[in-house]
Amino acid sequence: MSTMPALFVSHGSPMLALSDEPAGRFFDALGPSLPRPDAILLASAHFETEVPTLGAVQQPETIHDFHGFPEPLYQVRYPATGAPGLARLAAERIAAAGLPVKIDDKRGLDHGAWVPLRRMYPAADIPVATLSIQSHRDPAHHYAVGQALRGLRDEGVMVLASGSLTHNLRALDWRGGPDAPVSAWARAFIDWVAAAVDEGRTEDLLNYRRLAPEAVKNHPADEHFLPFFVALGAGDLPGRRLHASVTMGALAMDAYSF
Ligand code: ZN
Repeated sequence: MSTMPALFVSHGSPMLALSDEPAGRFFDALGPSLPRPDAILLASAHFETEVPTLGAVQQPETIHDFHGFPEPLYQVRYPATGAPGLARLAAERIAAAGLPVKIDDKRGLDHGAWVPLRRMYPAADIPVATLSIQSHRDPAHHYAVGQALRGLRDEGVMVLASGSLTHNLRALDWRGGPDAPVSAWARAFIDWVAAAVDEGRTEDLLNYRRLAPEAVKNHPADEHFLPFFVALGAGDLPGRRLHASVTMGALAMDAYSF
């Protein structure tokens, strides 16, 4: 069995589930291009808890955790089965690494999970377990969680971390699409991350808030960047940038494989 990838993807606006734009077309092509996993462990920026928590649900509901979007988006269901066995296994690995961990037997799939999944695997035929992030903890913590999970990649499990490479919602051009001019402060951050990944600079990435240009401007709070470190810990550097595009002038849709 081939080793499954550890991926970081930017899930963008919930409208990505329905819209035709470069990042959406990237997701459409991504699923078929990867070795087919037995199950997916999905870390979402929208699943925030005090300690690392695994969603262990047999049939997870589709959570529409957003407001003010067009009605068809609220009709979308992603009916993949859950993977409670994988959730418990992942919890054991995290505990074995000396980290606190919990199981949640109710949590469904938020849009950080189902938006990319629905485009990557529209048949919804791969079981999914979910993993939370801790917005009050630093990148090193999330890197350690990822490291605890890396062995699962040899057991048919894809680690899929979903957040956003940049995420300053107040600074976006909400009327602009993928063709809006890209802000210089977003471009500088995007390029810095790409170079650090390419050059294998793990320590620099872990200290991105101090070292990366315009880090705080791109991530006023960094819950959307923390999944990146789960994928990084579960994978290897140098990584590979699978996709790069920017929408609304400053929302980077970059995706990486580690
Ligand atoms: Zn989000």
